[in-house]
Amino acid sequence: MNKKDYYEILGVDKNASEADIKSAFRKLAKKYHPDVSKEPDAAEKFKEAQEAYAILSDSDKRKQYDQYGHAAFQNNGQAGGYDFSGFDFSDIFSDLFGGAFGGGFSNFGFGGNSSSRTRQGNDSLIRMNLTFEEAVFGVQKSVEINETKICPDCHGKGGHKEKTCPDCHGSGQISQAVFGGAFVTRTTCSRCSGKGHIFESKCTTCNGRGNITTKKTKEVKIPAGVDTGNRLRIANAGEPGINGGPNGDLYIEFNVKSHPLYKRDNSDVYLILPITITEAVLGCKKDVPTLYGTVKLSIPAGSSTNDKHRIKGKGIESVNSGRKGDMYILLDVHIPKKITKDQKKLFENLDKTKLDDDESFIKIKKYL
Ligand SMILES: [Zn+2]
Ligand SMILES: [Zn+2]
Repeated sequence: MNKKDYYEILGVDKNASEADIKSAFRKLAKKYHPDVSKEPDAAEKFKEAQEAYAILSDSDKRKQYDQYGHAAFQNNGQAGGYDFSGFDFSDIFSDLFGGAFGGGFSNFGFGGNSSSRTRQGNDSLIRMNLTFEEAVFGVQKSVEINETKICPDCHGKGGHKEKTCPDCHGSGQISQAVFGGAFVTRTTCSRCSGKGHIFESKCTTCNGRGNITTKKTKEVKIPAGVDTGNRLRIANAGEPGINGGPNGDLYIEFNVKSHPLYKRDNSDVYLILPITITEAVLGCKKDVPTLYGTVKLSIPAGSSTNDKHRIKGKGIESVNSGRKGDMYILLDVHIPKKITKDQKKLFENLDKTKLDDDESFIKIKKYL
């Protein structure tokens, strides 16, 4: 199989610079892109040019090609083109066809011209850190959003000095006689994309897009009860639409910082409450800091570590239902590490009393 030389395909010589190669490919892409070209073998030529560019724009691959020719990219000795499907051409295509195509070359759409279809812009996502309290009670925050407006310079047209397209004379269609005039084919005029008119100069304010996007600070109300991973949608604050389509949506995803005291489980809040051994044995009333102020909690005599108390309705409001969760208090009986002489005496006296007469002590003694 006689494969064409990559340099020949792009029409550059072997010493061409990276910029030469890029500009040669841009020219060919513009000429042969199947969405715009009417040449019968455009798809083939376009593919050829893509392959050549994918190799020659990569300095390593270019070196291999210079040394071994096409053999460098043939798998298992099989003839066939280099697989460039993973190659990113987006920087070439993004500005190649101006605003009319609005970056719609996601799959190089062979056939099917989507040049002037209205499309919603992409959604965008920002992440926002919130303190525990901000998430629980809700908060007002400033966020930067995109605002798209019709370009004031060209009034949305994308260019200045409009004139009738000289290629199609205003019809937006090109007629071509084939088979010696037996048929006439009509195709969309590539010069004006079927609009019938062109501009003498592209609008520089909007770069031909017809609209401009500015960053705007917007006050956003974060509702009470959001949690890490929750997303808030702000309609039409995302990326600008294509061809006058609506903007995408903006999503704000929250990351809630942990709190030194409270642990959260959906709408419920947990707090570990330290008590002394005498408080545990004798029972007591303790002040508990809730999210809504201090509450007195009765702890019965004979309490232990991990005993759980519920304070109803002192949890977090659910962002969906608006219902409030509960607060749970887990006791943590603190055994003192250091005690005074007097305290030691008291403990020694206490130890002489029969503290070990309950079931669990008796059970152990059976095995001693
Ligand atoms: Zn035209
Ligand atoms: Zn403009």
